[in-house]
This record gives sequence, C-alpha cells and structure tokens, in this order.
Amino acid sequence: MRVYNFSAGPSMLPLPVLEKVQKGLTDYEGTGMSVMEMSHRSKPYQAINDEAEALLRELMRIPENYDILFVQGGASMQFEAVPLNLCKSGKADYVVTGNFSGKAYKEAKKYGDMAEAASSADRNFTYIPALRKDMFRPDADYVHICYNNTIFGTRYAETPDTGNIPLVGDISSCILSQQLPVEKFGVLYAGAQKNVGPAGVTIVIVRKDLQENTHPLCPTMLKWSTQSKEKSLYNTPPCFSTYVAMEVFRWLKALGGVAAMQEINEKKAALLYDFIDGSSFYRNNVEKPFRSLMNVPFVTPDEQTDKQFVEAAAKEGLLSLKGHRLVGGMRASVYNAMPVDGIKKLIDFMAKFEKAHR
Ligand SMILES: *Cc1c(COP(=O)(O)O)cnc(C)c1O
Repeated sequence: MRVYNFSAGPSMLPLPVLEKVQKGLTDYEGTGMSVMEMSHRSKPYQAINDEAEALLRELMRIPENYDILFVQGGASMQFEAVPLNLCKSGKADYVVTGNFSGKAYKEAKKYGDMAEAASSADRNFTYIPALRKDMFRPDADYVHICYNNTIFGTRYAETPDTGNIPLVGDISSCILSQQLPVEKFGVLYAGAQKNVGPAGVTIVIVRKDLQENTHPLCPTMLKWSTQSKEKSLYNTPPCFSTYVAMEVFRWLKALGGVAAMQEINEKKAALLYDFIDGSSFYRNNVEKPFRSLMNVPFVTPDEQTDKQFVEAAAKEGLLSLKGHRLVGGMRASVYNAMPVDGIKKLIDFMAKFEKAHR
C-alpha cells in the first residue's frame, strides 16, 4: 500500500514516474540493461542527459545565457561551491532566514569577507526581512538567499532586487513548485530529493559570465566551468537520479508545466492553512505573507499532544509529520508529488484528532 509521505526530503515521487521507471528497470528501451548499468558515454544516456537539460530549460524558462549542470554533492556542496566560484573581490553578503541559509553563510566565511546583510533570527525565522539594494555592499561578489525555508516554513513573497550584484538562490525545496524569474538570479541551485527526483543529483543553473572568477584553491570538481564545458559529464554523473529527474520533468510538462503545478500547490496550501487558521486547536506561527507553499509547520496546544498526533497519523498512512527538532510540533511537506487527496486526508484526520483531544 502506498502511503502519504509528508517528509521534508527525500519525499514522494509521482506514482506514474515510479511505475515508468520500474518498467524499464531491467531493460531500458530495448538496451537490455538498466540506466544504472549504462555507460554515461553511451548514446541512450547522452539522450537522457540532453533531454533532462532541455526539459528543465523549457519548464523553468531558463534563458540561453545560463548553463544547467547536473552534479553531485547535494545543495550542501554548493554552499562551498558558491564562494569558490564567485570570487572576484572575495566579499559577499548573506541573508539568513533559517537553518540552511545559516549553514551556507557559515561555510562561505572560510573563503572570504562574508557579511550578514539581514536576518530574521530576532523572531525565530517566522518571516522574511524586507531587503533594499542599499543593504548590500556595492562591491559584493553576490548576495545569497534561500528562497524557501524548509524547516521554518517561510518563503520570499517576491524576488529581491540586488541591482548589479548577482543574486544567488538556494531553491532546494521550491524548485519547479512555482514560477521564478530566473533572469533576476545569477545562480540557482537545488538538491533533487524534494521536488525533482532521488537524492544524488544536484541542479545548478548559472549564468555563463559568472564562471570565470574562481578561487585559486577551488577543486576542479567544484568548478562550474568544468561541468558546463563537459555538459555535466566531466566524470561519472549520478546517471540514475538524473534519469528519474528527466521522467519527473516529462510528467510535469504533461501536467501543464510549472504554471499548472503552481496552481495546484496554491490550492493545496490554501486548504491546509485555511483549516489551521480556522481552528483554535492547531496553530501555524509564520507571518502570513511569507508562508511557504511547500512546508507547513504547525503545533497543537502542547508537546505531548503533538507527539500523539504524529503517532496516530502514521497509523492512518500519513507519514513523517514530525516537525524538525529546531521548531518542534509537526511539519507537513507538500511538494509537487503530494496529491490534493493527500491534503484532504490529512485535514480529515486533523479534524478527527482535534475532536478527540480538545
Ligand atoms: C534540503 C535542503 C538543503 C540540503 O540539501 P542536501 O542536498 O541534503 O545537501 C539545502 N537547502 C535547502 C533549502 C534545503 O531544503
């Protein structure tokens, strides 16, 4: 039996994609082998690599002056790659809005003069600070933001304007969930395991003119230029994860693309937030304009009840609802592959649980 998995990542994949992958598992399109067993220099894999790139470019409307890289190491590796690749003055500004942006800032500090331009730590990361161009150092190599904050359940209501300073965005937990103006960013990166596919592949979208100022100690493997010159095939890529990602891109395109997905996600989020707001039993502490479409943290009146909630929900096939230890309570991660029915089932359960426990 398939369950509704509300995990923050790895998370659900679309069932039709899993079934398609299963069909080709022992014999991919008449090759007599699985994509897992296939040379990354072979024709069928080249076709997968090319199609994954083309579909992502189409889905996200990525302009031609950006390279798309499929690399390893997770989003966390890009915390290091960003300062090592964008090292002109050696200065950069970070906006700290939660756990991952804090980690990115901490790693970057090893490589240069990094500054915290703004933070929402003062109210436990329940909002996104207002940003103005004059908050950034004019000679900063880049400004780094995390667009959707997976643990605290916030997201930017709009893309900040950093003027001529390249904007770098960690979009690990919101990639392909809503339309984003790629041209307003210099670099975007995302681990795959939330909205794209299995863990193991990381997407980097980087403007072509931002690959020249690498730190002298930047490892060859972390240089974006290495990967863009070789079309992500400098060394053995995460072939199988990239293949599944390609199937997810096909699925998303058939569904109507990112605009259609965004509509569904907004509907899902509205159902859940409206239910929570209409209840005096459950609470979400995020300031409304900054509520995430993908990660919805909530609490019951006390910690003991939270614990009971998580256990009782699991028995109903609603899994991984325990909140992150930094926030407590519950968190429903409702990425692209979570169907509307999963949300409805969760809400029904929440109503039932409330009746029994209030
Ligand atoms: C999950 C996540 C990460 C970490 O991703 P890894 O691929 O595990 O390194 C980084 N940033 C955000 C916003 C995330 O949600």
